[in-house]
Amino acid sequence: MAAIFFDVDGTLVRWRGDYADVLTDAFERAAGTHRGEWLDHYDERFFHHFGAFADDPYRRAFADVCDEHAVGCDPEALAEALVAAEFDAVEPVPGVEAAVDALADRHTLGILTNGVPDVQFGKVAEIGLLDRFDARVASHDPEIGATKPDSDIYEAAKARVDAERYVMVGDDREPDVDGAREHGFETVHVDATASDLSAPDFRTLATLL
Ligand SMILES: [Mg+2]
Repeated sequence: MAAIFFDVDGTLVRWRGDYADVLTDAFERAAGTHRGEWLDHYDERFFHHFGAFADDPYRRAFADVCDEHAVGCDPEALAEALVAAEFDAVEPVPGVEAAVDALADRHTLGILTNGVPDVQFGKVAEIGLLDRFDARVASHDPEIGATKPDSDIYEAAKARVDAERYVMVGDDREPDVDGAREHGFETVHVDATASDLSAPDFRTLATLL
């Protein structure tokens, strides 16, 4: 039995369009309008608060945008609109459902993601796969407080499941492959832009299936 952890964005789910469209949708839903400069400022402030592990980085970033640009809208309402817009905008990475179902028969599956727990796990719920993942680890869980490729998040994941082998499946080289290998995971690198789930590390996947 292996513990197989999946990244979320670009591995289990992807956006139907650009993220700018999702953010535009959120402003339109909550404020009834949007400006290009609001989107840019939001992105910059979100990553500032996210990087500082502030609680509720979405609301804090919208509060900064509302202050700076005199947007007459409640930051909390904007944050709720953004999460709803994100949930509406996700689709499964092609091929991932079959791979997850096949692996879930024989192994313990987990999520190992950089992000806010409710948002990250909610996106997986949107595509109908959350119940396949018994171990759920998100960087911005207050008990974790570390993002891939920091050691603490991989160690937290391993502490959740007692397994003979640990595997990380993900689309992003540094957090999902290099960092995971350094901390004792075998790795499967997927390309979410391909038309089907691709696994260049066929040796690892073949021994798991
Ligand atoms: Mg990813």
